[in-house]
Amino acid sequence: MRVYNFSAGPSMLPMDVLKKAQAEFLDYEGSGMSITEMSHRGKVFDAVAKKCEALFREVMGISDDYHVLFLQGGASQQFDAIPLNLMKTGKADYIVTGNFSGKAAKEAARYGDVKIVASSKEDNFTYIPKVSYEDFRADADYVHITSNNTIFGTRYAEFPKTPTPLVCDMSSEILSRVVDVNKFGLIYAGAQKNIAPAGLTIVIVRKDLAETSTPNCPTMLKYSTQANAESMYNTPPCFPIYMAMLVLEWIKGLGGVKEIQKINEYKAGLLYDFIDNSSYFTNSVHKDSRSIMNVPFVTPSAESDAEFVKEAANAGLVSLKGHRLVGGMRASIYNAMPVEGVEKLIAFMKDFEMKHK
Ligand SMILES: *Cc1c(COP(=O)(O)O)cnc(C)c1O
Repeated sequence: MRVYNFSAGPSMLPMDVLKKAQAEFLDYEGSGMSITEMSHRGKVFDAVAKKCEALFREVMGISDDYHVLFLQGGASQQFDAIPLNLMKTGKADYIVTGNFSGKAAKEAARYGDVKIVASSKEDNFTYIPKVSYEDFRADADYVHITSNNTIFGTRYAEFPKTPTPLVCDMSSEILSRVVDVNKFGLIYAGAQKNIAPAGLTIVIVRKDLAETSTPNCPTMLKYSTQANAESMYNTPPCFPIYMAMLVLEWIKGLGGVKEIQKINEYKAGLLYDFIDNSSYFTNSVHKDSRSIMNVPFVTPSAESDAEFVKEAANAGLVSLKGHRLVGGMRASIYNAMPVEGVEKLIAFMKDFEMKHK
């Protein structure tokens, strides 16, 4: 039996995509072999990689001023790759809004002067701090932000205006809402939340930023290495690239990111409305900073939280346990979570509240 999987990542993939992959798994388009068995340099896979990139550009509105790179190493490897490529004068500004942005800033500090321009740590990362243009250093190389904070359930409703290129970790919300790529110097994301199975990391980087790197940047981490080789300097993560292509076709079929955004806002709205009207469940994130992808919530006690997670799993609503840094529950409702899954969760929460209040 398929369950509703609220995992923060790796997470659900659309049913239509899983079925398509299953149907063509043993013999991909008459090649007589699986997509997982063929050379990445052959004609068949080359067409998949090209189609995946073309769909990415179309669905996200990425212009020719940017490279779209298919890499490995996860979003975490980019915490080093970014300063090694971009920190050419040795200075970068970071905003710390959670665990991952903290890790990114810590790695960057190995390579140069990192200024934490703003942080919401003192309030357990329950909001996105307000910053203005003047808060950033005009002579830094870039500003780094994490647009959606997977663990704490916050996100930037609007992106800051910065004097230097804006670099953004979009791992847990890429393709979930319309963004103007032209406002960014670099966008990166691990695929396993909203794009594909684990193993693929997408980097969208403005071409002029990728031309050179710092002298100590390893060949494998240089954006120019993979840009010059069309992401095939070495063996790329072939299967996740193929799955990403199917997911992008699915998004396009639904009417693009604009339409997915409407569905995501509707799903998140249902859940937040229910929590806000409940006297049993609470969400402590400031309303203007709420994520539409990750929704943390708690009952009045840690004991009933644990019971909730257990009983929900028995009812086919799995992976609702919150991150250890936050406790309680977290419902990750990425693109692939159907409206029905959120409705089932709310019905379960209502029932649980009646029994336990
Ligand atoms: C999951 C996540 C990461 C870590 O990604 P890996 O691919 O596991 O390295 C980094 N940043 C954000 C915002 C995430 O959600």
